[in-house]
Amino acid sequence: MGQHIKDKADPFSVVVVLSGGLDSSTLLAHYAALGSDLVAVTVDYGQRHRREIDAARAVSAHFDARHVVADLSGLGTLLKGSALTDSQVSVPDGHYAEESMRATVVPNRNAVLANVAVSVAVAERASVVALGMHAGDHFVYPDCRPAFVTALDALVAVANEGFPTPRIEAPFIHWAKSDIATHGTRLGAPLELSWSCYKGGELHCGTCGTCYERREAFRDAGLHDPTEYIDDVTEFAAP
Ligand SMILES: [Zn+2]
Repeated sequence: MGQHIKDKADPFSVVVVLSGGLDSSTLLAHYAALGSDLVAVTVDYGQRHRREIDAARAVSAHFDARHVVADLSGLGTLLKGSALTDSQVSVPDGHYAEESMRATVVPNRNAVLANVAVSVAVAERASVVALGMHAGDHFVYPDCRPAFVTALDALVAVANEGFPTPRIEAPFIHWAKSDIATHGTRLGAPLELSWSCYKGGELHCGTCGTCYERREAFRDAGLHDPTEYIDDVTEFAAP
């Protein structure tokens, strides 16, 4: 019997893909509130906004979660053409749903990130891999849509057949970002420690797509935004 227990997934253990942003920080708070045993996985894929890795470290520490940083930094140099990994491409300002935000797509990113987390989860016998995508991501990022999560779940089952296989959960996938800001604030998530800005400067710029989305989320939720922005007055219309 003892051997069988070893072969089963731990029903309380959750591997959270933690970028260090608002959504994944709230996701960690979400599973912490459920009493889960947490492993936070952050992938260094050579992103220019490296501050988010430090943010992920701080958020993990807040929740006493075990934090793993997977070093895939060499991947970034191969991903030419994305504003997030290629210093030749400038980070666009504007509304998150603008066509220009396609420059911030990192080729196949979530498939890579999620599969690194799945590997950790299989090794750790965790029962869930949690992803923080939300409805606002669907416009621009194909690897944040419900079809991606469904396909990934099927892939994980096939790729790990015969082993305790984690299921994929994305509890915010139909939520607006303002819902996430509300949820995170209610749960007492340390959102002030989270980092969104794609430009990765000393402060959040306030005008890149993800900064503007962050500003909108707190404003739409009617919440105090704990973030310090360089520019918190410029407005962009939704396309
Ligand atoms: Zn920014």
